[in-house]
Amino acid sequence: MANLLWLQGGACSGNTMSFLNAEEPSVCDLVTDFGINILWHPSLGIELGDQLKQLLHDCISGKTKLDIFVFEGTIVNAPNGTGHWNRFAGRPMKEWVKELCAVADFVVAIGDCATYGGIPAMAPNPSQSEGLQFLKRNHGGFLGKDFKSKAGLPVINIPGCPAHPDWVTQILVAVACGRAGDLTLDQFQRPKTFFQSFTQTGCTRNMHFAYKVSTTEFGQRNGCLYYDLGCRGPMTHSPCNRILWNRQSSKTRAGMPCLGCTEPEFPFFDLAPGTVFKTQTVMGVPKEMPPGMDKMRYIKLTASAKAAAPAWAEEDMFVV
Ligand code: SF4
Ligand code: SF4
Repeated sequence: MANLLWLQGGACSGNTMSFLNAEEPSVCDLVTDFGINILWHPSLGIELGDQLKQLLHDCISGKTKLDIFVFEGTIVNAPNGTGHWNRFAGRPMKEWVKELCAVADFVVAIGDCATYGGIPAMAPNPSQSEGLQFLKRNHGGFLGKDFKSKAGLPVINIPGCPAHPDWVTQILVAVACGRAGDLTLDQFQRPKTFFQSFTQTGCTRNMHFAYKVSTTEFGQRNGCLYYDLGCRGPMTHSPCNRILWNRQSSKTRAGMPCLGCTEPEFPFFDLAPGTVFKTQTVMGVPKEMPPGMDKMRYIKLTASAKAAAPAWAEEDMFVV
């Protein structure tokens, strides 16, 4: 049996909605098949007021063992570092988080806000938001870069806006079943099993990427979204085309560019006008290249790919 406590800071509840839709395994499976005891969750907990405060104090004092502490949303520090803009159970949420992280065997941050600050931490960041162990790319965040939970691991980051439900439940199962040692984390503390490959891995538009055939409208089933519509699939670490959403599809399969939501910089360019759904270019060449590709090689490759593209590459093969 592993006790799990889930709290929410500066959040839209999107990751909770995602979590409750998990299928492999589902939230019910966590409880019935994998021995996870959900002590409290904002949408599932039944304790209120003094009962909830008691539950939290029991975790902090050690009376109730806290195996897994899950946090969704940013740490809100405003105003002036006090955290009073986000009060919970009678005190600033960040004070609960600090004390709970100190006693938890494992700390898991779910979604961009909890991992890296996400949308609330966009400039000018009026809520003084930060992630548990990062602020965007900067290591440190609320807990500091040297933080390790009692089991000796840093915060396990499962980013995304929201995170895919099965990324969340599968990592919770690994931790609850004593397999946390099998997790290897990348430099942004994301489990490599999910975040080593790219959104582009498994994208149905890869041949159009290779032949430089561009999608020009949202929802169009032909072409690749990288050349005009700002797809970040080649630069984004996610398994969105390997572990499909609703077991059915992904953004790029549906004709919507990947926004790079699993990367610490999300939302890129702080959503400045003209930067969303639009490839940023210099003299027609995308400013951001797939990792490992240099601009000169890219120009040569795409010129010859375009010239070599077969006629069918420009046709809409999905209409019949
Ligand atoms: S649509 Fe995006 S993810 Fe798919 S092949 Fe093009 S650039 Fe890659
Ligand atoms: S396709 Fe891109 S923006 Fe969409 S969920 Fe996956 S990583 Fe995030």
